[in-house]
Amino acid sequence: MYVSNCRAVVRRPLFLLYSSFTPSPSIIVFFPGCSVVIGWTTHLSPDVERRKGRRKRALCCSIGLDFNRVTSTQKTHHQPTFLGICCVWFPVSYFFAHNLPLAHTMILWGRVSRMLVSGAFASWILPVALSQETLDYGYIPSVVQTILTSNMSSQPQRPRFRKIQSFQADYAPTSITQYESERSGMQVIVADRKGPKINGYFTLATEIFDDSGAPHTLEHLVFMGSKNYKYKGLLDKLAGRAYSNTNAWTAVDHTAYTLETAGWDGFAQILPVYLEHVILPNITDDACVTEVHHIDGEGNDAGVVYSEMQALQYSSNELMDIRARRLLYPENIGFRYETGGMMEALRVLTPDRIREFHKAMYQPQNLAIVITGEADHDDLLRILDEFEESIKDDIPPPNPNFKRPFVDSPQPPPLEKTTVETVEFPEEDESTGEVIVAFFGPSCIDQVLGTAMNIIMTYLCGSSVSVIENTMVEKEQLASSVSYWWDSRPNSVIWFQPTGVATDKLAFVEQRLITILKEVASKPLDMAYIKEVLQREKRQVQLQAEGSEQFYATNIITDYLFGKRDGSTLKDLESLEEYDILDKWTDEQWRDFLKKYISDAHHVSILGKPSHELAKKLKANEEARIAKRKEELGEEGLEALKAKLESAKQTNEKPIPPEVLDQWAVPGTESIHFIESLTARSGKARSLGVQKNEAQKIIDEAAKGLPLFVQFEDVPTNFVHLTVHIGMSKTPVKYKPLLGLFAENFFNSPVMRDGKRLEFEEVVKHLERETISYHISSASRLGDYEGVAIQLQFEPAKYETIISWLRTLMFDIVFDPVRIKAATVKALADIPELKRDGRSMAQEADLAIHFKPEAYLYAKRTLVKAVYLRRLKKLIEKEPETVVGWFEELRKSLFTFENLRVLVTANVAQLENPVAAWDALTSVPDIDSSKEVSPIIKLSEMLNEEGKAPGSFGSVVIPMTTLDSSYSVSTATGIQSYADPRLPAYLVALGYLEAVEGPLWNAVRGNGLAYGVHFSREIDGGYIQFKVYRSPDASKAIEASRAIVSKLASGEESFDRHLIEGAVSSIVSGVADEQSTMSTAAQQNYVISVVRGLEAGWNRKILERVRNVTQDQIRAVLKEVILPVFEPGRSNVVVTCAPIMEEVSFPPFSSVEKLMLIGCVCRISSRLSQRGVTRPKCSNCRTFTMITGSRLPRARKRMTRKRKMKTTRMWRWVVVRRNLTPRRRIKAVSSGCVWGVLEGEEESAFTDESVGREHE
Ligand SMILES: [Zn+2]
Repeated sequence: MYVSNCRAVVRRPLFLLYSSFTPSPSIIVFFPGCSVVIGWTTHLSPDVERRKGRRKRALCCSIGLDFNRVTSTQKTHHQPTFLGICCVWFPVSYFFAHNLPLAHTMILWGRVSRMLVSGAFASWILPVALSQETLDYGYIPSVVQTILTSNMSSQPQRPRFRKIQSFQADYAPTSITQYESERSGMQVIVADRKGPKINGYFTLATEIFDDSGAPHTLEHLVFMGSKNYKYKGLLDKLAGRAYSNTNAWTAVDHTAYTLETAGWDGFAQILPVYLEHVILPNITDDACVTEVHHIDGEGNDAGVVYSEMQALQYSSNELMDIRARRLLYPENIGFRYETGGMMEALRVLTPDRIREFHKAMYQPQNLAIVITGEADHDDLLRILDEFEESIKDDIPPPNPNFKRPFVDSPQPPPLEKTTVETVEFPEEDESTGEVIVAFFGPSCIDQVLGTAMNIIMTYLCGSSVSVIENTMVEKEQLASSVSYWWDSRPNSVIWFQPTGVATDKLAFVEQRLITILKEVASKPLDMAYIKEVLQREKRQVQLQAEGSEQFYATNIITDYLFGKRDGSTLKDLESLEEYDILDKWTDEQWRDFLKKYISDAHHVSILGKPSHELAKKLKANEEARIAKRKEELGEEGLEALKAKLESAKQTNEKPIPPEVLDQWAVPGTESIHFIESLTARSGKARSLGVQKNEAQKIIDEAAKGLPLFVQFEDVPTNFVHLTVHIGMSKTPVKYKPLLGLFAENFFNSPVMRDGKRLEFEEVVKHLERETISYHISSASRLGDYEGVAIQLQFEPAKYETIISWLRTLMFDIVFDPVRIKAATVKALADIPELKRDGRSMAQEADLAIHFKPEAYLYAKRTLVKAVYLRRLKKLIEKEPETVVGWFEELRKSLFTFENLRVLVTANVAQLENPVAAWDALTSVPDIDSSKEVSPIIKLSEMLNEEGKAPGSFGSVVIPMTTLDSSYSVSTATGIQSYADPRLPAYLVALGYLEAVEGPLWNAVRGNGLAYGVHFSREIDGGYIQFKVYRSPDASKAIEASRAIVSKLASGEESFDRHLIEGAVSSIVSGVADEQSTMSTAAQQNYVISVVRGLEAGWNRKILERVRNVTQDQIRAVLKEVILPVFEPGRSNVVVTCAPIMEEVSFPPFSSVEKLMLIGCVCRISSRLSQRGVTRPKCSNCRTFTMITGSRLPRARKRMTRKRKMKTTRMWRWVVVRRNLTPRRRIKAVSSGCVWGVLEGEEESAFTDESVGREHE
């Protein structure tokens, strides 16, 4: 007789089978004549766990027949009997044992029955497996003994991880648990929070004392294969099938690898494979050739990392930043160096140096596995334990003398003097420069001082009413903004950055900033405002903790890097008591703090000066260097290099045999727990139907008001997320181009309130006090392209106050010609920059071809604004009252009863007077509540004749002097309705084509034809677009894509089964992404039911349908819907390109029309922009979006978002998600988690280098 964990006993033969069941362990008591299965369920469904408060174990027994003697035919006969006994016995025994309500027993049953099936299965597989030798029972014990011993050695009773602590945050529904491996010292920190997404951040503290770029190159090489999985792309392909995305970033102090998954099961599958890539990467010389640096057949330097750094090294940000760091830190401090790699250093970096760096830093004792989401702790520790077991022979034993990077290294000495230096950066336009000023601050681990720093910086430059911003930007107009941030470090660095400073005033502005700081410190502070800032910060942190996927990750990573490893500093995340402490700080304490770290402290200032001369010199030097090299190499040398590169490519691109991927089954979706949001409706919204639920009951019982259209979404949030969705059906076309300026002024203008005029500063102060954030933008994120959305977040108690403020802003705003003019001038100043952007210009030309002039999309184009705003500026000087009249007209046309729809996302029970409170808005005299709500205008209604049936226009090539590459947009008729039966196949087909390492990736990107290509699926508009991003010749990229699509459509090329699975998975993770937080899940409900008019839960139902798509259906869709986008006569193409490419033949299209961009005067040499030496400037962020009330240029916007996180840190490196669909990219950006160069997304708002560094 033996007792064992059945999983271990039948580990080999049953592994795959078993892993498809729930991993509940069962014990088989197995002896001649009878088998008994004893199982306990440790994996109850989460709702059962929640209700019960803790995990209970259910022990159940079942008795089976003797299978040892049965033949295979008898087996099929007996097995049902066995199962039948189990099926009856299990729930009954459980029911009695635990005295549980029957409902609970039934929920359990789902889990238990699967466990039983596997247990039962094991109980006959085992004897069969043993049967050849074991008809003699005497033999069994020895077999058992063997299995048992191997089991004992490989499968310990408990994973060897020690729980350091576990605590619940008192300000958000999250608990944090910290473990440490007893064997390796690896740390595991899990922040449990509800939602469909699990995010992993595998973080290594990485310190280096040179500019070789080893940390960054390593980050790329990890994805090239590992010890046991020697295939490039395997990890991505596998992740793609498991609802996951992988990515990574390198900062100056750490490298983090990210795994973003929908549901635990997918995460659990990828985790060990990913970790093997991190700890045991297969760093080959060939991989270094293509990924790091090589010289191509023409003598030019290339390589993925090299090109990435080439685009950055001479940007003003980088040049100023690196100089400042050289002045702040001596040579023995890691923060001094460029971990991305300087170009000169990358050219000589050897694979051995990278391997050496890996050996030194990539050890489990220097690794933290940070996970946020619904993690299964037992499963996690088991996986990690097995992983540690599997690598134990390949890694050195933990070194007790291991020096923690940065923490055990020498610390930087304090600054002994103030240094002001000028740094030139290459730029043709020498009119404006920048300034950065750096001070050393307190340790980032000190929560009180860190938070105090956030507050004082917000106090100084947080909004248009704070002292520095108000003086330097609003009043003295010395800078277009003053950005601020601080780097979390043991000695943090505080940064101020006045941008858009006139070049001849750089030194003056630096001085002025310091003077203002000293002035502020010399007088009593505005303590009332400090307290307001403090409370607002606290609310923002609470909101972030609840809603942001990144909040905990950021804080935990900082703690891992610099905090105490015993968990005592991590524990600070338990509460926000630092705010209570700071609330008691006196004026004197605040000023002492300000003096100590800022106003009286030594600092390093860099004046960034644009230089045309330098631009020319750099270009000449680079050309001379390449020419010299070519000469040295000669024809033969170049040929040799070319051959070397080709052979490296061949080795790297080794295809992955299908059977390798088949080792992993596609995980189930049961572990993806979507956030439930209950819909309730009042007023006109009721016409869409009402559901029977708790929320609707509360709304029905509430006091009635005027019948405004309000949809409530009930989720257990501590905040109210309010959206006022305004249609534009009555807005005259001539006012539509004004909407950007209108939005700019909406929260920033004087108002009449209670019969008194409040100046804009007062308004901003009020809004800051009452809200957590406020925002106005186009309603495109709600799926309505002809609408405006006002969004506010605040505490439930403020519900009525906010509605009253909305009334004031909507009806009692006083348009001020001075502020309108200022906004016009700023908007005009942005236009030249916008016109230099090849991608958005292609998009705009496409809009002009396919949309009616009255469409808002049409009216907000840059080229329209360029003409319109210039006229407006003149008019406002001559007849200000006319312009104010226009704004009044526009306001009236927007805020009418017919145009208003409201979405309230909240814990509905917490709202006082949820319905009638809205009477404040609808009892306004101009509002006629007897009217019906106007329908939402569909995007497809705005198409012109050409837009309805594209193809007759042909192609347009737009030469732009600012470009050195090309972009294109092709448009054809697509799927026009969500009810189209081809929709699931359409989504799968597009997912298939766009997959990482998929057909288009290989055909286009793999052959260097473009940086990226993608489709946009405009079902609302009824069209499909194919876009080429940054291509040496867009026509070739289009042709290559057409060829592969037509091969797949005709059946000439067969489908890759794994890629289809990946495409289906990507749709699942897309849906999870859209609903990753409570507010986004609620917003999705609104979009689906109100904007699109679909049944509730439509998006989840489509998930069922995409699973059943057949290859024939995909082929049909490729032929009918997708291929036409490549066909002359059925699609139109717009190309923007460098002037030299204008004459390039355009194979698929016979007639090429040319359209010159009128007024494009920018003359940056294409060579320079290729080298990435154009000066990064904020381009799009000023168009129609405002965050926290002031005009925030790009850098500021990023800082503000960042600042909302509890511990502020600026990531010098930015994540580029490699596998996102356009919509998800935008989502990622709008949720504020990634400020990245995101290639290929719909809006070009995030392309300049000032945002960060591109990782690809
Ligand atoms: Zn990179």
